[in-house]
Amino acid sequence: MPALTSRRVLLKSRPVGLPKPSDFQVVDEPVPAPKDGELLCRTIYLSLDPYMRGRISGVKSYAKGVDPGDMMVGGTVSEVLESRHPDFKPGDVVQSSHGWQTHAVASGTSVRKLDPKLAPISTALGVLGMPGMTAYVGLLDIGQPKAGETVVVSAASGAVGAVVGQLAKLKGCRAVGIAGSKEKCDYVVGGLGFDACVNYKTESLVPALTAACPKGVDVYFENVGGEVLDAVVQLLNPFSRIPLCGLISQYNATGPVSGPSWRALLTNRVLVKGFIVSDHLDRMPAFLADCTAWVRDGKLRFREDIVDGLENAPTAFIGLLQGKNFGKLLVRVGADPTRR
Ligand code: NDP
Repeated sequence: MPALTSRRVLLKSRPVGLPKPSDFQVVDEPVPAPKDGELLCRTIYLSLDPYMRGRISGVKSYAKGVDPGDMMVGGTVSEVLESRHPDFKPGDVVQSSHGWQTHAVASGTSVRKLDPKLAPISTALGVLGMPGMTAYVGLLDIGQPKAGETVVVSAASGAVGAVVGQLAKLKGCRAVGIAGSKEKCDYVVGGLGFDACVNYKTESLVPALTAACPKGVDVYFENVGGEVLDAVVQLLNPFSRIPLCGLISQYNATGPVSGPSWRALLTNRVLVKGFIVSDHLDRMPAFLADCTAWVRDGKLRFREDIVDGLENAPTAFIGLLQGKNFGKLLVRVGADPTRR
């Protein structure tokens, strides 16, 4: 096969506050030929996720950061073009973390082969991928919802939140979402089957949540922090649980952020547990078995927000941090052979 060029998106400079398109740079670089045990892959889908804001911030965290000049990291679904690994052949579709680029050479041990007959291949980055597993582990293992309880989730129309509310319904709970537009709230209730959804941009949060949660809140799956957390905390029942998954409202903060009402957490003996999905990989077989079956049977629905072209990844990522995405945000980097 003739030498290929990979188009890549690099971090050019560390963003201050909301990232700008000029913080990123598109370059073309040659792709080396695969060696024994390696695969040459063509990216079909790139996942854009809120955690990427933390990786480019320069702040020490649980995972290695991206420095200026480095390629942006990210989960991918790719087609194998050339294989020097016995378990793969050209045409196989694999899930991996090849980052913001059109082509990659990867070790055969670093990728997971997908079966396009089980579910659309893009779901390996959403409902049947890292975001879906975050919802599964965070709600079922940490939130421990019981039938009849009320589960509230913020960023409810997004990749994680949409799965949280549907799993809560499958467990016999009342599911209440919080989202940032009427269109998103309508989808959360009408499209996903939540019992109610509060628009945090137009409604007064505490009265609206009190009406939506007449028996108080037993599990609050936290994705955003800030004023939304402050409001939900006031409705928590004694011995409720908060899977502390994300704080997206603070990711672009340039100064100190005000804290939540911790007194309510104390007096109600609330269990708050921060978690990182990658610490729970032992739950992956159970997650895939349960959620693949629920997707197949139509019990777990998903929505994707697909942007075409790798060069549009920076603008789409900036939009994610402003709530412009509606559903799991993906970049279609190249043609999807399973949707021809
Ligand atoms: P989404 O698909 O939900 O997209 C992000 C959404 O967050 C936006 O669409 C927007 O929805 C909402 N949002 C953005 N800015 C704000 C703001 N200032 N205040 C309130 N809401 C805001 O993303 P994911 O489902 O992928 O991620 C959701 C959360 O889960 C994030 O906090 C992420 O960091 C976290 N996460 C944590 C993991 C872990 O291991 N702990 C793993 C994966 C994700 P809206 O318009 O409704 O406001």
